[in-house]
Amino acid sequence: MSDIKIPLAGVIGSPIAHSRSPRLHGHWLRKYGLPGFYVPMDIASEDLEVSLRQMPRMGFVGVNITIPYKESVMAIADQVSDRATLIGAANTLIFRKDGRIHADNTDGYGFIENLRQSAPNWDPTAGPAVVFGAGGAARAIVASLLDVGVPEIRITNRTRLRAEKLREDFGNRLTVVEWVKAGNVLDDAATVVNTTSLGMVGKPEFRVPLDGLRPGTVVNDLVYTPLETRFLRVAAEQGCQVVDGLGMLLHQAVPGFERWFGFRPEVDEATRAAVLR
Ligand code: NAP
Repeated sequence: MSDIKIPLAGVIGSPIAHSRSPRLHGHWLRKYGLPGFYVPMDIASEDLEVSLRQMPRMGFVGVNITIPYKESVMAIADQVSDRATLIGAANTLIFRKDGRIHADNTDGYGFIENLRQSAPNWDPTAGPAVVFGAGGAARAIVASLLDVGVPEIRITNRTRLRAEKLREDFGNRLTVVEWVKAGNVLDDAATVVNTTSLGMVGKPEFRVPLDGLRPGTVVNDLVYTPLETRFLRVAAEQGCQVVDGLGMLLHQAVPGFERWFGFRPEVDEATRAAVLR
C-alpha cells in the first residue's frame, strides 16, 4: 500500500454554489495531470473554526475563503501574512504540516497580475489612480496600487466615511473625492478601477459620468458577471484600455494552487474558457 497522500483543497463560503473556483482548480489539476481534488464547502459560521482545525488531519493542504468569512478567519489563523494584516482579510489559507493555519490575501496580487497581463504597457506610476468603492475588495486594491508605486489614489465611495477610513489606514497618498464629483477627477488618471458591486447582475447600474476619461487610461472593473459591464463599455467608447474582472479571479488563485499542489499554473485563454463554461 502506498503512503502517498492525495492533496485536498477547496473553497469555503456560504453560499458557495456560485463559486467558479472549483472549475478553475479542477481545470489546472487536469491540465497538469496532478493528483488532488478541490471542492466547494458551505460551512455555517458556528462550525467554521472546528472545521478548519479538522481539515489538516483529513488531508487538506489549504483552502480559499470567500464571502462571508474573509475577515473572520483572521482571528482563527495561527499566522497571518503582512499583506493580509494590512488588508484585514484573508482569501487563502495554507495548512502547515503541524496543523497550524497560515492566512494570506492574494486579491491584490491577482489584481496587479491581471492588469500586467491584459494591459502590458500599463505604467501605474504614470499618474493618479481613481478607485470607486471602499468595501472589502477596495482595501486589497488600494494596498496593491500603493505597493506598485502609484503616486496618488483618489478614492470615492457612496458612503464617504468608509473612504475616509481607508485614507486613515493607508495614508496621505490617498485623497477622498465626493461620490457625486468623481466624474471630475478622471482626466489625468493612469488607472481607474470599479471596486463597487454596481453593474453586477442583479445590482443597480454604474451611473457616475465617465466622459472625463482620456484615451489610453487603463480601466478595470472587478465585477465579472457580466464580463462586459456598462462601466467598461463606456470606458472603451472613450478610447480607454479596458480590462475585465475575470482575470483577477484567475490570477489570485495562482499562489494557493502552487503551494497546495506544487506547480505554478498558467493563466491563459484556455483557463478563462474553462471557468466560463
Ligand atoms: P463590499 O465590501 O460589500 O463593498 C461594496 C461596495 O460597493 C461599497 O463600496 C459600496 O458602497 C458599493 N455599493 C454597493 N451598492 C452601491 C450603490 N447602490 N451605489 C453606490 N455604491 C454602492 O463588497 P466587496 O467584497 O468589496 O466586493 C465588491 C465587488 O467586487 C463585488 O461585485 C465583487 O463580486 C467584486 N470582486 C471581484 C473580485 C475579482 O476577483 N474579480 C474579487 C473581489 C471582489 P457603500 O460603502 O456606500 O455601501
